[in-house]
Amino acid sequence: MTRSEVMSRVRSKDTGPELRVRRLVHGLGYRYTLHNKLLPGRPDMVFAGRRAVIFVNGCFWHVHEGCPLNRRPKSNMDYWDTKRLGNVARDLKNQELLRETGWSVLVIWECETRDQESLIPKIKKFLEARAK
Ligand SMILES: [Zn+2]
Repeated sequence: MTRSEVMSRVRSKDTGPELRVRRLVHGLGYRYTLHNKLLPGRPDMVFAGRRAVIFVNGCFWHVHEGCPLNRRPKSNMDYWDTKRLGNVARDLKNQELLRETGWSVLVIWECETRDQESLIPKIKKFLEARAK
């Protein structure tokens, strides 16, 4: 994989996996706001009334352990490792900050968005546990 190929996979807003989850959650009747800049890590979806947030993480960029989508590039390994491990450290820190201030956090991996049948109960369980 070349650097430009990897760059084209850089996590951006409104990516496929995130859009899939948004559509799904919306279809289930839940309402949320997007990318709240005031919260640590700018969660992809914020359910303020439930004090819950969802992150949709790319398996490559956020290093989903053991996932086939998380393949190490063969060139510039140090460069990508540094970047990706930085993401992981930041993710953990942000999740900790959110939990410390009473937010519940759900991380949905890119690969999980391909299987909506198991994703739906997971999202429902998470959100329903947080009363409005
Ligand atoms: Zn994955």
